Amino acid sequence: MLGKLAKWLRILGFDTLFFSKAEDDELRSLARRENRILLTRDTGIVEKAKKIKVVFIRSENWKKQVKQVLSELQLREQIKPYSQCIECNVPLKSISKKQAKNLVAPFVYERSDSFSLCPRCSRVFWPGTHHSDMNFKIEDILEKE
Ligand SMILES: [Zn+2]
Repeated sequence: MLGKLAKWLRILGFDTLFFSKAEDDELRSLARRENRILLTRDTGIVEKAKKIKVVFIRSENWKKQVKQVLSELQLREQIKPYSQCIECNVPLKSISKKQAKNLVAPFVYERSDSFSLCPRCSRVFWPGTHHSDMNFKIEDILEKE
């Protein structure tokens, strides 16, 4: 239920793990071990949470979920869109245009000046990788209510 929230938190540059199936105990110990904040719609987890920070997600709408997380955890100042690999949840590294030359299609190379690389999956990103639709949604998310 929170998959889309997780994806969008990554798009906005936050280190986010997502589990569609996991035992409550596992989630709690992972959160404790890695000092993570648990986002959940499960009231059972909220009640049993000890020594970890839990945010109970109120809405079923992903945009409202993202807004809730950003405001409750005061993350708006730390937003860095497109700084994480959406698939791997690791920070992207900037690479020079020269380094990108053999990694992207020629038309991409010609049209773009900034490139970044995911150190895990080796995917190369450039400003045009993301749909303009995505930028539009980010604007929408960042708009205060
Ligand atoms: Zn990756």
